[in-house]
Amino acid sequence: MIEQLRAIVGPAHVLTDPDVTASYERDWTGRFGGRAAAVVRPANTDEVAAVLRACHEAGHAVVPQGGNTGLVGGGVPRQGEVVLSLRRLDAMEPVDTVAAQVTVGAGVTLAAVQQHVRARGFDVGVDFAARDSATIGGLVATNAGGERVLRYGMTRASVVGIEAVLADGSVVSRMHGLPKDNVGYDLASLVVGSEGTLAVVTRVRLRLVPLLTERVTALLAVDSTAAALALLAHLRACLSTLECAEVFYAAGVDLVCAATGRPHPFGTNHTHPAYVLIECAARHDPSDELMAALATVPDQAGVRDSAIAVAGPAREALWAYREHHTEAINRAGVPLKLDVAVPLAVFAAFEAELRATVAEVAPDAELHLFGHLNEGNLHVNILAAGDRAEALTEAVLTLTAGRGGSISAEHGVGVAKARWLPLCRGAADVAAMTSVKRALDPGGILNPGVLFA
Ligand SMILES: Cc1cc2nc3c(=O)[nH]c(=O)nc-3n(C[C@H](O)[C@H](O)[C@H](O)COP(=O)(O)OP(=O)(O)OC[C@H]3O[C@@H](n4cnc5c(N)ncnc54)[C@H](O)[C@@H]3O)c2cc1C
Repeated sequence: MIEQLRAIVGPAHVLTDPDVTASYERDWTGRFGGRAAAVVRPANTDEVAAVLRACHEAGHAVVPQGGNTGLVGGGVPRQGEVVLSLRRLDAMEPVDTVAAQVTVGAGVTLAAVQQHVRARGFDVGVDFAARDSATIGGLVATNAGGERVLRYGMTRASVVGIEAVLADGSVVSRMHGLPKDNVGYDLASLVVGSEGTLAVVTRVRLRLVPLLTERVTALLAVDSTAAALALLAHLRACLSTLECAEVFYAAGVDLVCAATGRPHPFGTNHTHPAYVLIECAARHDPSDELMAALATVPDQAGVRDSAIAVAGPAREALWAYREHHTEAINRAGVPLKLDVAVPLAVFAAFEAELRATVAEVAPDAELHLFGHLNEGNLHVNILAAGDRAEALTEAVLTLTAGRGGSISAEHGVGVAKARWLPLCRGAADVAAMTSVKRALDPGGILNPGVLFA
């Protein structure tokens, strides 16, 4: 089969040397990975289709991979699969300024698309810290969220067309970008969030948003999560330009400051219990609107201190406290990472319960929480989990599901949470999902072990 793959993509693009394949075989967290039979790097849709046809006929499993920034072990091999790297599918068509859409290859990074469309006065609704490596195919496969979900929704809301290759090599495509198109099942929407288990995404047509050039960022220190929520409620009601509302806590800020050498926010050596980072964006300076909103913050929002930045470098300095969390935590050890969301009505109580649960299950573990406040989404990072990782996962996910939440808010299920899928999806749901999987991938070659345990 390797010879067949070489004939399809050229010998230079079938990698088997362990020194070369190593970076494709381990995930970003360092927790997941295994050996690949080969890493195959097709250049276009036809080559992807031919590779899948060959693997389908040979009954060989395939793991699609983009930028390998996924955090649930879904994009790396586990036991001798072929890794199908999509990074060479990096073509970008000109921006369609009339429709406010663009078509790009699945292997283009988010940062490259941003640069491409910003030059024409547009922007991509989705944004997050892994933008320089994460690919559009990966964003679609995981239905990535990020920092602007509050305003623009998840990746699904930005997708108006998808071209994808099914397990048997057939190509499905709906790329005209029609805002109104009710002819049959919406296959594009089905593929979004399917984590490489139903099809390999090769091209994507994205809906664009206006490039908002004027931004103001504020970092606010608050008493607690309940205070953060009171602040959010106030800001959401009176800010038409609100784009992001992030939350993080004292321990994370300490870690970021230690890892990056940055001073603590507000010129103090101590940290506050919780922090809310907000950003407003508009075509005209949104500072006045933000200042007016902050001037009327209610008492229960418990704001202890605040810093506001308008200039680019000053805004980046505030964002750094949030965006360096993942890196700083990874530098301190290999974390157990869970990504959960609960309804905002129970968010504050849930945060306290979560801390108590982790302390009870693994008293020596170190818990770091940060996330997207508006969506009740916490990234749960646990260092020094040791042999309690499984017990902690079980306890945290069970607690989340019990509060009406999601055990995977934005990173996907991957292999990391496949065992716990039934916590959030009923038997009929799982049966329907399994039927779809069997219909589109009868040989089960696409990403086995991901989503379904
Ligand atoms: C520092 C950091 C910050 C992050 N912040 C966020 C965040 O705020 N929000 C968020 O949602 N995620 C976040 N992530 C997670 C990650 O970046 C996203 O899941 C991203 O969408 C993955 O893109 P990728 O190209 O790296 O995909 P990969 O990691 O390569 O793959 C991820 C999954 O998608 C599948 N896949 C990849 N490409 C394709 C394709 N073309 N066709 C079919 N399946 C495919 C893989 O099989 C795998 O299951 C963050 C990660 C890091 C490291």
